[in-house]
Amino acid sequence: MPEQRDQKIEGLRRDGHFDVIVVGGGINGIGVYRELAAQGLRVLLVERNDFCSGCSAAPSRMIHGGLRYLENGEFDLVRESLCERDALLSNAPHMVRPLPTTIPVTSIFSGLLNGTASFLGLSRQPSSRGAVPIKIGLTMYDWITRSRRAFPKHTFRGRDQTLHLWPKLNPDLRCSATYYDAWISYPERMGIELVLDAEKLSPESVALNYAEVTSPNGGLSLEDLMSGEIFAVEARAIVNATGAWVDDAIERLTDNSRGSKPLVAGTKGSHLVIDNPELYHALNGHMIYFENTDGRVCIVFPYLGKVLAGATDIRVDKASRVRCEPEERDYIFQALRAVFPSVAIRSDDVVFSFSGIRPLPLSDHEFTGRISRSHFVHRLDGTIPQFCLVGGKWTTFRAFAEQTVDAVLAELEQTRKTGTLDMAIGGGAGFSDDYAGQLADRHAISADRAAYLVDLYGTRADEVVVFCADRADDTPVDNLCHTSAAEIAFLVQQELVCRLGDILLRRTPLAIRGEISDTVIDRVAAIVAAEAGWDEAKTLNEIQDFRSELEEFYGVSAEMLERRTRDRSETCA
Ligand SMILES: Cc1cc2nc3c(=O)[nH]c(=O)nc-3n(C[C@H](O)[C@H](O)[C@H](O)COP(=O)(O)OP(=O)(O)OC[C@H]3O[C@@H](n4cnc5c(N)ncnc54)[C@H](O)[C@@H]3O)c2cc1C
Repeated sequence: MPEQRDQKIEGLRRDGHFDVIVVGGGINGIGVYRELAAQGLRVLLVERNDFCSGCSAAPSRMIHGGLRYLENGEFDLVRESLCERDALLSNAPHMVRPLPTTIPVTSIFSGLLNGTASFLGLSRQPSSRGAVPIKIGLTMYDWITRSRRAFPKHTFRGRDQTLHLWPKLNPDLRCSATYYDAWISYPERMGIELVLDAEKLSPESVALNYAEVTSPNGGLSLEDLMSGEIFAVEARAIVNATGAWVDDAIERLTDNSRGSKPLVAGTKGSHLVIDNPELYHALNGHMIYFENTDGRVCIVFPYLGKVLAGATDIRVDKASRVRCEPEERDYIFQALRAVFPSVAIRSDDVVFSFSGIRPLPLSDHEFTGRISRSHFVHRLDGTIPQFCLVGGKWTTFRAFAEQTVDAVLAELEQTRKTGTLDMAIGGGAGFSDDYAGQLADRHAISADRAAYLVDLYGTRADEVVVFCADRADDTPVDNLCHTSAAEIAFLVQQELVCRLGDILLRRTPLAIRGEISDTVIDRVAAIVAAEAGWDEAKTLNEIQDFRSELEEFYGVSAEMLERRTRDRSETCA
């Protein structure tokens, strides 16, 4: 067990009294944890899997205002989202970056009547959006951000100019519109950075992954799922930030069944990561934001040297761990064929897929895309009052946390000490565009290595370089990836790693970029084992569990891993 976790467990043994317990370590729970820690409270954050491993690991990776929410008349949500987008661009510039976005437009007026009707609440059907409704939406988008213009205003291009820039787009288009939003490179890493920031703000606070809180006989009890040890814990308030599982968690955290209407009704969404250079180049550095034939908005954009495409939107009755099913892959392929008809995309090009459940507020809307993406806090009475987070987007996690914490502070009769709107996140502190150059000069490392480290860690890259310099194993775990063995050791020691998948799926981009192979898995497992003190049986177990997880939930089969190992040894021969 890494020393970092031992210290936390020791802290719990010493003192199980907290001001607030936050249950659920997705981005919303983590946001609340940081916000409470910033107020100087002692907080316990409990996540039963790894941090940011649920829905928060499955977004389209857009940090956006939500252009299409304007159709629903959700101006406040768009305004809040744009404000949060701009805050993230300056607080976490190492991970949140501008994303030029282009909408191919196939008609001029279509969707105008439907858009107006839906805006007035008279229509619940999606319809194709023509140039005029898109122009109206983008003008509003520009207007909302007029006082702090982070990006250029939107532009329209005629057919010829559009096809000149994107020659592989479906030639049926009439024109295109380009505007700016933002994207996040490593959402799971930002989650960890926020947890680490919170612990600096309130050193007595504790964040535990692989742990669960239940309420047997009215008290609260915490189980460390890694060791089975159980602790009695106490708090003056509970925040239930379990996303799609919020109703299940209410049952677990109160000793009797609530028996009332559920708060959340999720929809499932899946994405593919595609390694197809023709498609990558066809995007010309932009996100293409387009409508599929069923009226659903889909996205495709260049992501970490590959292409990210999605998403589906399917109602689910019950929260559970989900994966991209073959029919969802076909849906995304069909959508891509409609927008880039001449680009051949093969099943073999998919190097990774992922899926999550959006924790949306309960709604009977027949078109899932029109269910509100807004959020609210629902308070439940009890011996310990419980604040349940309902809805939300990745983009708005900070605003949602702020609203939740205001409600909690009122309950505890405490006043807010500070805000987080301007608070830098992790390696975003002190970041500048030429940070990689400075890092290379400061530590005499190659420009490539510096660029890789700054992309992943921002200004924390200095810490990584210093740690790695003291070790003899600062060499890549595989010839085709940048991650070094020493860097894995750093992550195990510093970033709350408990399982092999934590490293391969969430602390590094090794899995999502399609860089893992049998060899990489074995090498990384050996390093984690040495750092965490795993014996041979535990190491083999972890490898086996991880490979099953990859196959079942991320579409990476044993044959794919074996093929990658073979291809690489041929490349290097
Ligand atoms: C397909 C898709 C695309 C999306 N795209 C975007 C986008 O581009 N931009 C954007 O802003 N948003 C996007 N979102 C929305 C965004 O991802 C979610 O709103 C956000 O991640 C929800 O975070 P959360 O913390 O509420 O839920 P989660 O991340 O699911 O976290 C809840 C956590 O609670 C834990 N948990 C559950 N029960 C318990 C328990 N009893 N004890 C302890 N822990 C428990 C779970 O393990 C889980 O980790 C997208 C969502 C999906 C599905």
